Amino acid sequence: QYHFEGQVALVTGAASGMGLATARAFAQAGAAVVLADLSEQAVEKAAQELTDAGHRALGVVCDVTDEAQAAAAVDRAVAAFGRLDMAFNNAGIQAPPTDAADETAENFDRVNAVNLRGVWAAQKHELRQMRAQGSGAIVNCSSLGGLVGLPERAAYHASKHGVIGLTRSAAVEYAPRGIRVNAVCPGTIDTPMVSGMLESQADAMAEILKQQPIGRLGRAEEIAEAVLWLCSPGASFVVGVALPVDGGFTTH
Ligand code: NAD
Repeated sequence: QYHFEGQVALVTGAASGMGLATARAFAQAGAAVVLADLSEQAVEKAAQELTDAGHRALGVVCDVTDEAQAAAAVDRAVAAFGRLDMAFNNAGIQAPPTDAADETAENFDRVNAVNLRGVWAAQKHELRQMRAQGSGAIVNCSSLGGLVGLPERAAYHASKHGVIGLTRSAAVEYAPRGIRVNAVCPGTIDTPMVSGMLESQADAMAEILKQQPIGRLGRAEEIAEAVLWLCSPGASFVVGVALPVDGGFTTH
């Protein structure tokens, strides 16, 4: 459906869940893919899967909380494949539910260092490369938690609301220069992040599922589909949106 032959994509948090599904989808659409994540073993395994299937892929160890590592991931993409056309800034972590009155500064900072400052750092260095090229498309990973508030999730929801702010500001700044920046806001998606919560927070998860009108969890591939569309020529007039892909969760 998508044709990204000759283009280069970078995905952060690419060794699991939605990041991995999106890296696979980019590769199947013909793009060369750089898979950035924390563990060397995990990124090598994911990249190997793609190269074994005949795609161009490179695994890069990258902790997005360290700006220098985010910059290096972009540099590695350009060194390996010559340019950077698309990026999915997806690396993120959850936090245990915490009463807002009991939240620690350490927990707030830990979540925001990955989910918000990590997206900021990756986006900054991707924009530098895309600015030099005069083209590109970036998709940042927010959440339904970037659009609404659920109890006991202040740190996570602050980070995901922040991602939408980063996205909108960069989007209006860079649209005139041929670079589109958008965000995707997944609902509750069946990934390793959520399967842990299904067990440890079964009641809260059942409540969330009740509010998901479609009546099931989303699949990582359904987020990948939205990310590829946002990067594709079909979305050429789509700038600065925070696109819910959530089975209807945020519509009521
Ligand atoms: P996941 O845990 O399966 O994958 C996240 C990946 O990010 C992991 O491979 C992890 O190693 C990586 N990562 C974590 N910290 C990192 C860091 N500092 N630097 C680089 N990589 C790092 O989770 P997922 O469900 O696929 O989540 C992907 C994104 O989607 C996250 O930003 C998450 O907040 C967001 N999200 C998830 C859901 C959901 O229901 N699963 C819903 C809305 C938003």
